[in-house]
Amino acid sequence: MDERAPVVVVRPAPDVQELPLVYDSPHSGNDFPADMNAAVPVSVLRRNEDAFVDALFGHVTALGAVLVKATFPRTYCDANRSEQDVDPGVLDGDWDLPAAPSEKLIRRGAGVVPVKVHGITDIYDRRLTAKEVKYRLDTCWRPYHRAVETELDRLYESYGGVWHINCHSTRARGNKTDPDGEADRADFILGNWDGTTCSAEFLALVEDFLSARGCSVDVNWPMKGVELVRRYSDPGANRHSLQIELNRKNYMDEARIEKNEHYAVTEALLADMNAVIANYVKSRSQV
Ligand SMILES: [Zn+2]
Repeated sequence: MDERAPVVVVRPAPDVQELPLVYDSPHSGNDFPADMNAAVPVSVLRRNEDAFVDALFGHVTALGAVLVKATFPRTYCDANRSEQDVDPGVLDGDWDLPAAPSEKLIRRGAGVVPVKVHGITDIYDRRLTAKEVKYRLDTCWRPYHRAVETELDRLYESYGGVWHINCHSTRARGNKTDPDGEADRADFILGNWDGTTCSAEFLALVEDFLSARGCSVDVNWPMKGVELVRRYSDPGANRHSLQIELNRKNYMDEARIEKNEHYAVTEALLADMNAVIANYVKSRSQV
């Protein structure tokens, strides 16, 4: 692990009214640790990265929100998985923690320590050891979750409610290992785990805004959210988490991992969307 912190938390400046609103970007990091020892080049690993998503949401602190972002790559450790999403049967050495391998891990190699890129390309030409998987949980997964949970709990205590946007991007189309196959994806995919991680009102606020701006929007398909929206949400107690997936075609050249000609338009659209979200949060909480 290099010396950079695995997670960066950016809070509003002192002269900005704080809101109980937290954004997090778990997949935009690209500091590749020296101990990763992958069999494929960084250019291939970065296909799994939600490149530029932390930058696209960088303005939210000016609205009063907190932004939490990972600096470690998603292929090294995926903070949007349960820490139990491990298959001890494929590790060298004994795994002495609880394990509950998900269908995503078994079918696509996409557990808390991924072993495939996009369900197809093997990341390693060796077996991972139990020791290195534990090390990645200790140095990446736990600090990241501690940061998200701390911010959500702190704001909830102060304001009696908290809203959380879990930020991602998605390929313009998947492959045969994805639930939607090779179909073209919508401009935005919103996920609240089939209605369980945020109120219908909050989901509708974001969906209606994007639709009114001419964007195509899918809800809970082909992604509905994973660990970060599930773990800290409780809509009945006024804790709301919503996953947002941006279609990468609207801001980047996926092959080159460079901003494309649509980047500025998407950044401006997100700024408008996040201002609407901030106003809503202000109206629904004791700010
Ligand atoms: Zn993501």
